[in-house]
Amino acid sequence: MLVNAAEMLKKARDGKYAVGQFNINNLEWTKAVLSTAEELKSPVILGVSEGAGKYMAGYTTVAAMVKAMDASLGITVPVALHLDHGSYDGCKKCIEAGFTSIMFDGSHFEISENVAKTTELVALAHAAKLSIEAEVGSIGGEEDGVIGEGEVASPEECKKIASLGIDFLAAGIGNIHGIYPPNWKGLNFDALGKIHDATDGIPLVLHGGTGIPSDMIKKAISLGVSKINVNTECQLAFAAATRGYIEAGKDKESKGFDPRKLLAPGTDAIKATVKEKIDLFGSAGKA
Ligand SMILES: [Zn+2]
Repeated sequence: MLVNAAEMLKKARDGKYAVGQFNINNLEWTKAVLSTAEELKSPVILGVSEGAGKYMAGYTTVAAMVKAMDASLGITVPVALHLDHGSYDGCKKCIEAGFTSIMFDGSHFEISENVAKTTELVALAHAAKLSIEAEVGSIGGEEDGVIGEGEVASPEECKKIASLGIDFLAAGIGNIHGIYPPNWKGLNFDALGKIHDATDGIPLVLHGGTGIPSDMIKKAISLGVSKINVNTECQLAFAAATRGYIEAGKDKESKGFDPRKLLAPGTDAIKATVKEKIDLFGSAGKA
């Protein structure tokens, strides 16, 4: 059942659990996430980055695939189709394409420009009944081979952006995308507490969920995090299982080269990762 993400995240905030956003890359990915969420009776958010949208032949194709698959698989749990780290133009395209949720990432702009663009997109998104996430304090991660440290968002700026009518807020608290370096200092809970206090209970979003220890995830949820983004971890699981299949020579046995067989171990590995995260986030049975 395709819905916007506002209600499911308010329920998560009130129930002290988090809904996972799992980024999708193709049909197998989408099927794996949807079927696992249904099996566990968990609400779920399908994340689509601008790059993944382009890879899947555009947002309209993605929206059509997700809607049709949701119906064909008889999915009953709430599913949001969400643009991840959208540009201003990307957000507008996804509203038109039939997404149910968008994220506008204006974190690299001066705060005044982030405020102006977020305000405009809140009006457009809500007029079309989509939920909208905004971001303050950029999330670090690897860019051109350099791993940047995650910024820590200012509680005042968070307050300003949260007051614009957005449905949920991504705030940097030392989290980064991709794999965390060995010398990572961990999440900044002091900052998270201040942001939570300054933003009037708005559901908070934790990006870069891959590799954050379970105890930190649980503490973050207790401090108002209601949505956690997982991307790299599914990719690593898919790659490792696919590598295992090929290295074991399975593609050379009988019809092991059939893509439906070749991609099966990787797809099962995505399912296992999604299940593990849904259990950790506490959203199983909350649909
Ligand atoms: Zn992110």
